[in-house]
Amino acid sequence: MQTWQDMKQLQPLAAQMLVNSFKKDRISHAYLFQGDRGTGKKEMSLLFAKSIFCKNKNGAEPCQNCRDCHRIDSGNHPDLHWIEPDGQSIKKDQILHLQKEFTYTGLESNRKVYIIVDAEKMTVNASNRLLKFLEEPSRQTTAMLLTESGATILDTIRSRCQLLAFQPLQAHVIEKKLVEEGVSNSNARLLAALTNNMTEALEMNEDEWFANARKLVIQLIEVLQNKPNEGLLFINHQWMPHFKERTQLQRGLDVLMLWFQDMIHQLLDREDSIVFTSEKEKLNQSVMRWSRQSAARGLSSILEAKRKINQNVHPNLVMEQLTLQLQR
Ligand SMILES: [Zn+2]
Repeated sequence: MQTWQDMKQLQPLAAQMLVNSFKKDRISHAYLFQGDRGTGKKEMSLLFAKSIFCKNKNGAEPCQNCRDCHRIDSGNHPDLHWIEPDGQSIKKDQILHLQKEFTYTGLESNRKVYIIVDAEKMTVNASNRLLKFLEEPSRQTTAMLLTESGATILDTIRSRCQLLAFQPLQAHVIEKKLVEEGVSNSNARLLAALTNNMTEALEMNEDEWFANARKLVIQLIEVLQNKPNEGLLFINHQWMPHFKERTQLQRGLDVLMLWFQDMIHQLLDREDSIVFTSEKEKLNQSVMRWSRQSAARGLSSILEAKRKINQNVHPNLVMEQLTLQLQR
């Protein structure tokens, strides 16, 4: 359950614009919510729909308890319509069907709201159909078009929508939200350091592959510190079989980089910036082996390795070189 208070933390500008449109009683006929996956577009569109339909709202804040609010939560509100891609695209028939629905007056009020998810996936025919619809707005209709890439939306449609740009989320916001979603404090900190995409972070939290990747990074550190001669063996037998794809290897190196950053934070007494909060003891062991300079050198070696992976250098070779550079 989201409130405008939550949304203002997540997307201050977009939330403020929508709340203002309530305050001034100037709700647009159409909005374009544009931003990456996981930036809160769906949540905000649902909240906005609640604000429109709730009869007990306090300012813009819906009560969350009335019949209208409950039915929006359960996806059963008769005057709120969702359109999502049918397979790869949103087809003309789906828009036609929507228009037909709208020729009847609202079932319970005169208000109607429709939300088009992945609006960039509308076919040309569907877009043209929607355009006609937007050109003859009935006063009581509000459209929300949700998209990750506004560039592929017809200009004629864009120009009829009020644009709301959803910003990438800030790490501390993601961290807090993840904890609210039940993610452990230490995982939330790590995930927020790796992605600004809420959806991706939640997926990673459930992903066994990622949990094992995290373990392997810490094992690699321990091997480098305690049994440097076994470094290459570890890379070939444990590390590479887990990080088979280049994207996976990049992820592994991102986590490794965070460890090196943590060492530097620890050495500079910047406790608050440490990401691996649940590995304090191991981190202490690391900073006994690495000086600030050597940790900084390690960090640039990892960055260099990441660059080589991008340039299609053979992953095994890159990891072997990196391991030799990082041995203590
Ligand atoms: Zn309500």
